[in-house]
Amino acid sequence: MVVVRGTGTLVAHSRARGSLGRGSACPSAPFLLEYSAVKQTEILVVGGGPAGLTAGIYAARSGHRTLVLEKSFAGGQMALTSEVENYPGFSEPVSGMLLAQTMEQQAIRFGCEVLNAEATGIKSGPTGFEVATTAGPVAAAAVIVCTGVKPKLLGVPGEKELSGRGVSYCAVCDGPLFKGREVAVIGGGDSALDEALYLSNIASRVHLIHRRDEFRACPFVQQRLRERENVTYHLSCVVESINGTERVEGLTVKNLKDAPTFVLPVGGAFIYVGWLPNTGWCSSLVALDDSGNVKADDRLRTTAPGVFAAGDVRNTPLRQVATAVGDGALAAMSAHDFLIGETLAT
Ligand SMILES: Cc1cc2nc3c(=O)[nH]c(=O)nc-3n(C[C@H](O)[C@H](O)[C@H](O)COP(=O)(O)OP(=O)(O)OC[C@H]3O[C@@H](n4cnc5c(N)ncnc54)[C@H](O)[C@@H]3O)c2cc1C
Repeated sequence: MVVVRGTGTLVAHSRARGSLGRGSACPSAPFLLEYSAVKQTEILVVGGGPAGLTAGIYAARSGHRTLVLEKSFAGGQMALTSEVENYPGFSEPVSGMLLAQTMEQQAIRFGCEVLNAEATGIKSGPTGFEVATTAGPVAAAAVIVCTGVKPKLLGVPGEKELSGRGVSYCAVCDGPLFKGREVAVIGGGDSALDEALYLSNIASRVHLIHRRDEFRACPFVQQRLRERENVTYHLSCVVESINGTERVEGLTVKNLKDAPTFVLPVGGAFIYVGWLPNTGWCSSLVALDDSGNVKADDRLRTTAPGVFAAGDVRNTPLRQVATAVGDGALAAMSAHDFLIGETLAT
């Protein structure tokens, strides 16, 4: 079943009749319905993380029929973050899930629809774009790419074999399974240290393994982590293999400063060593940079006129909720300008 959430009138393009037909409308409460028709919209936002939901808010509020396509759940990576403490407007840390739900409700309030489906391809036509999705094709006059990033693999023996059996890329999802046990976090950026902090509340000990001798993460998080007594640092160290038969039983770790290789007896390995943009579905139409990010200019226009990119998926120097929502707003207004035929100032 494909789920659509929204409050406005649902407009479905019936494949059989080849015309626009009206679906059920419910002005006051979110609706859920089974959906199998071809969709048509003005602005299609692909990805329902903070960038996509903000694009949905701005596009719908500007009067455009707007559809946000999300393959799993609204909020993206933000929804998997236990505490967001640097997003303006909250003096105390706020749960990423709560932020996600609120952003989605806000978009729906302006008439934006959210469809649970995955984009699998895109092609341009005479009047816009057709995006192939797991719920059937969606036609749109403009498209905003907000599909974020996925975790990079560490690439060591045992990682793939034990994925989901002790190897994890999401502490919020899997951390509670390791209550009172020893775990390792691999990485040295903000995500790695944030998640080490989160896990230090659950695990008996967190081993933080980083290949350099200093962290890239912001000093504030580093300081908070230093205050935890159950965190052990393994700097200038790399994981050589993740060991275990049924589940993770330990890591073989090599010290790069000529110290001996050692084994850490941990039950969980949480990996945060970088990200890969989710662009497989659109890379035939828009240009990517050398790292695989969607190339976008200062108005977030991609190399395909009518296609815009926002948030982590694009060539951005900072991947955060605040920058993603800023991007989402700008991309939606650039799409609006494109649709009304205004020449964008460069
Ligand atoms: C562990 C961790 C902790 C973090 N902590 C913080 C923090 O404290 N503060 C902060 O500001 N930032 C934090 N971040 C970063 C922040 O979460 C991201 O920068 C932000 O979520 C990016 O938003 P986005 O909308 O660009 O992408 P995402 O949040 O990644 O959303 C992309 C969405 O697109 C969907 N999608 C992907 N492909 C498709 C497809 N083909 N079809 C349909 N849908 C698709 C995905 O399911 C996802 O929901 C953290 C990130 C991580 C991983």
